[in-house]
Amino acid sequence: MSTTVPDLATLHAIGAAQQPTYPDAGALAANVARLRTMPPLVFAGECDELKAKMAAVSRGEAFLLQGGDCAETFAGVTADNVRNKLRVLLQMAVVLTYAGSVPVVKLGRLAGQYAKPRSSDMETRDGVTLPAYRGDAVNGFEFTPESRIPDPTRLLDVYNASAATLNLVRAFVTGGYADLRQVHTWNTDFVRTSVAGQRYETIAGEIDKALAFMSAIGADPEELKRVDFHSSHEALLLEYEHAMTRIDSRTDTAYNVSGHFVWIGERTRQLDGAHVEYFRSIANPIGCKLGPTATADDAIALAERLNPDNEAGRLTFITRFGAGKIRDGLPNLVEKVTAAGIKVAWVCDPMHGNTFESSTGYKTRRFDDVIDEVQGFFDVHRALGTWPGGVLVEMTGDDVTECIGGGEEIDEEGLAHRYESVVDPRLNRVQSLELAFLVAEMLRQ
Ligand code: PEP
Ligand code: MN
Repeated sequence: MSTTVPDLATLHAIGAAQQPTYPDAGALAANVARLRTMPPLVFAGECDELKAKMAAVSRGEAFLLQGGDCAETFAGVTADNVRNKLRVLLQMAVVLTYAGSVPVVKLGRLAGQYAKPRSSDMETRDGVTLPAYRGDAVNGFEFTPESRIPDPTRLLDVYNASAATLNLVRAFVTGGYADLRQVHTWNTDFVRTSVAGQRYETIAGEIDKALAFMSAIGADPEELKRVDFHSSHEALLLEYEHAMTRIDSRTDTAYNVSGHFVWIGERTRQLDGAHVEYFRSIANPIGCKLGPTATADDAIALAERLNPDNEAGRLTFITRFGAGKIRDGLPNLVEKVTAAGIKVAWVCDPMHGNTFESSTGYKTRRFDDVIDEVQGFFDVHRALGTWPGGVLVEMTGDDVTECIGGGEEIDEEGLAHRYESVVDPRLNRVQSLELAFLVAEMLRQ
């Protein structure tokens, strides 16, 4: 691992995809300078702990559950929103751990997920064309010329919003809320009455009995009282990520201290691009998305550049092929990467290859396609004798209607009922729990 982080000018000279054009370079520089003085949001030692867990995933000894919004928003930094999201992630983890009988690594897609790559730089509505929304980190969602101008003061807002979110998450996971004895209290209100909620209640009852037994024999392990939970986001905006990169005094190594795990998106994984060059210089556990156009040679070259020491836990390949393509496309990738002796964790993003526009005008996904892609991912890995290491899902703890199907049978008309996502459609709380049960079954097979 290199200890020198290329400077920003060098990275921009290399060429970085998906970056905003700020109108005022001076204002940008001032905000970046301020950001460089801010305390770390996460610690290098915590990143190393997560890397050790991801090494277990890469060896087939644990399963990754990574989830959260496609795009967090500043307005979404409320106690209710963060708690609801965390609660469903904890429920999903319980289902996977108990019904799937596997240790689960819990990773939030939160506290930093504010910048979005876009397939088009511009957006047209009713004959008006404006710059696309690139996430609250860059510009405003409101469709006005003023709001869509990139504003560098938002970089500090990202820091503050991430700090507030992470602070709350840390309080929840260490302060008793994540205690396994609370397993019933996570199953509240509308979820409790759903089929998935009732199945969950059965598991919670069994866990209660096991806990009562342990208590009766005098066993009271610390592991019951808290969970390990880490944060992740796509490290897209070089200004922000670079400013949040620090040299760890213990090891003289650079870490991105804005999140424990950061990943490179499908649109920024160019082998000779600035993102790969930046990611090479940090020691965090990292991910790289691989879509249907990625060849095995691309994947091998990326692994050699991003993880030259072939360190287990360092690199995760997050595949996002689409339900219709994964069974044909994934085997060659996995086979050749494995044959090359590359140590990697394989994770399935069953969301981004399955997006389409509904007849009612909403960006959506079918729950069945999401499940089918995860099943294809399991089938391919099972056939090759490799480990299906986890899932990355876009989900929320609220009762939204953004994805079609699931037990509540949301249809195209029903999307209008409560569609709140500013970018991609998320599984709602019941759909997330249903997915966890289905994945648990796949783990048992
Ligand atoms: C995302 O994870 O929201 C995303 C944009 O994914 P991808 O880079 O795979 O398109
Ligand atoms: Mn998305």
